[in-house]
Amino acid sequence: AAGHELAPTTGATLVVGGTGYIGRFVAEAGLALGHALYVLVRTFGPLVCPSRAATAAALREKGAIILEGSVNDKDFMEKTLRENNIHVVISAVGGETILDQLCLLDAILAAGTVKRFLPSEFGHDIDKANPVEPALSLYNRKRRVRRAVEAAGVPYTYICCNSIAGWPYHDNKHPSKAAPPLDRFVIYGDGSVRAFFVAGSDIGKFTMRSAFDSRTVNRAVHFRPSCNFISMNEMASLWERKIGRTLPRVSFTEEDLLAIAKENEIPTSIVAALTHDIFILGCQSNYSVDGVKDVEVSCLYPDMAFRTLDDCFSDYISSLLPHQTRETRPSAAAAAATVDQLAVPPAT
Ligand code: NDP
Repeated sequence: AAGHELAPTTGATLVVGGTGYIGRFVAEAGLALGHALYVLVRTFGPLVCPSRAATAAALREKGAIILEGSVNDKDFMEKTLRENNIHVVISAVGGETILDQLCLLDAILAAGTVKRFLPSEFGHDIDKANPVEPALSLYNRKRRVRRAVEAAGVPYTYICCNSIAGWPYHDNKHPSKAAPPLDRFVIYGDGSVRAFFVAGSDIGKFTMRSAFDSRTVNRAVHFRPSCNFISMNEMASLWERKIGRTLPRVSFTEEDLLAIAKENEIPTSIVAALTHDIFILGCQSNYSVDGVKDVEVSCLYPDMAFRTLDDCFSDYISSLLPHQTRETRPSAAAAAATVDQLAVPPAT
């Protein structure tokens, strides 16, 4: 990417939502690059959720400057952006607070320091995909933010990173937190539709690179690593090779997913609707990246490798053996044998 990088050294980066699931990967990638990095946390007093406070403390330990406040507070945000000479704002607020970013946008306009804004996207291209409700309403909120950013004339980049690497549980907002199953696979449809999977650390790494790249101004950046373009059937086989045994495969139909989506339970129904879009309709690969408004991240950074799903699955094997330290961790084969003992026998 030499020659394409902006000169960010004069300004700082602000990550909003850095204590959240996706935002933490982004903040950590920024710190790894040695950027002056501010992280906004909503409250950082004794009442804050302990895991969020621990994340904020860990980021501060690594060099982040923690700011307390909300993007809903326009005056505070304007002052914060101006006083800290923030050039790049990356937002990773969650689905429930997407529209809070409209206030952030007002502050960005008023402060006048920001040269790039990455609103909270981190999924599919919301102008191309059309999931069923209630995911469609989430997309409509994200679309509203996109249109406001474009109308405001603030340089932007949209990160379309597709699925976070992990077993795609339809009932879990952050499926990658849970290891793939040890009893049986729930396979959506016929299991043949492929999707792109990206490790959380790579979402952070490539987001940070994109945020400072002149080639990504006013474009959507699509994460489509060919090494991780894989169907559920292929994922199941990969996991079976890791654990050294086969598991039964149970079909979960399009109707099953639509029924959960229809229940309108948030966030479960949103995840089911997105699972339907991904594994039944193939929304991640049924369009091409035109190179004009859309750019593929592997074309931007051909020398930067993605973590493979195989590596991510190996991490789960290690996490299933929490008592093992790095030094005493057994070989993959021995680990697989232990995982085998942990496995729940399939119901007969
Ligand atoms: P989380 O709910 O885990 O985190 C959201 C973060 O934003 C929290 O730190 C939260 O702080 C902060 N936040 C929310 N509102 C405000 C505000 N008004 N002011 C300041 N901070 C605020 O979100 P996710 O990581 O799940 O989602 C982030 C994005 O990633 C979303 O766009 C989502 O759709 C997408 N996503 C993509 C996935 C994929 O597989 N591709 C998977 C999951 C999400 P607080 O602690 O105070 O709540």
